Amino acid sequence: MVIGNLYLCPTPIGNLEDITLRVLRILKEVDFIAAEDTRQTVRLLNHYEIKKPLISYHEHNKVSSGIKIVNELKLGKNVALVTDAGTPGISDPGKDLVKLCIDENINVIPLPGPTAITTALIGSGLDTNEFTFMGFLPTKKKDREEVINNIFHEKRTVIIYEAPHRIIDTLNEFKPYAGDRKIVIARELTKIHEEFIRGTIDEVLSKIGNEVKGELVVLVEGFKEVINLSPEELIKKYIDSGIDKKEAVKLTAKKLGIPKSEVYKLTLNDK
Ligand code: SAM
Repeated sequence: MVIGNLYLCPTPIGNLEDITLRVLRILKEVDFIAAEDTRQTVRLLNHYEIKKPLISYHEHNKVSSGIKIVNELKLGKNVALVTDAGTPGISDPGKDLVKLCIDENINVIPLPGPTAITTALIGSGLDTNEFTFMGFLPTKKKDREEVINNIFHEKRTVIIYEAPHRIIDTLNEFKPYAGDRKIVIARELTKIHEEFIRGTIDEVLSKIGNEVKGELVVLVEGFKEVINLSPEELIKKYIDSGIDKKEAVKLTAKKLGIPKSEVYKLTLNDK
């Protein structure tokens, strides 16, 4: 028996025109569609006049539903996976179904298409040569502090997802680390109220106001190291970028290959 394929089908992140011809063809051809939110998917299918059986696959039923989907694939059925919006597998349960199918030797066929990550990045004005995506920040205080610290030590552009009700607190948590780093908020991408808010952390906080609505991507400019600086200049550069003094001493010593104690002495006269 020939087993079926799992097609990963990206769907629009706002504007319904952002769907490829290939995704539309696959949605028409498969035996059924596994959808994270069936009501949302029905709206998309109605718009394109596609009628297809749906099965729900989301965070809370992914184990039982995953087994059902795999059984259908083993019976030779072709399945398309769509999530709420964007590319399945990016910060959604799609990745678990992909893993399950690979473990079961089922062919997984990824289709290219929209995702909030690259849409935000290319409009941000930040460096696109090297970037890193860190998904949603952890909620536990200690893990969160560690991740935020990592974000501001990262040399590449950092992209994260954030919810509107948390964004102001998150930006305030960034403040001690952010220094003069450029921050970009990409809001409501591809939708009528699409907006990019750019600036330093203080500028972004004042532009964003007290109430933030809609979907958001946050981007942080990578940390820029400057070579050929004296130890004093290098420490100052690190501290101005939001890194604390202890860490700045460590990084300077490492960068210049001199003992930490020597670098530390240079900071003793600082207030
Ligand atoms: N799989 C999706 C993708 O490929 O982008 C992401 C799913 S994740 C559960 C949802 C998050 O993506 C939102 O909370 C928001 O951070 C971001 N997002 C999705 N659509 C967006 C949009 N139109 N504008 C800005 N951010 C968006």
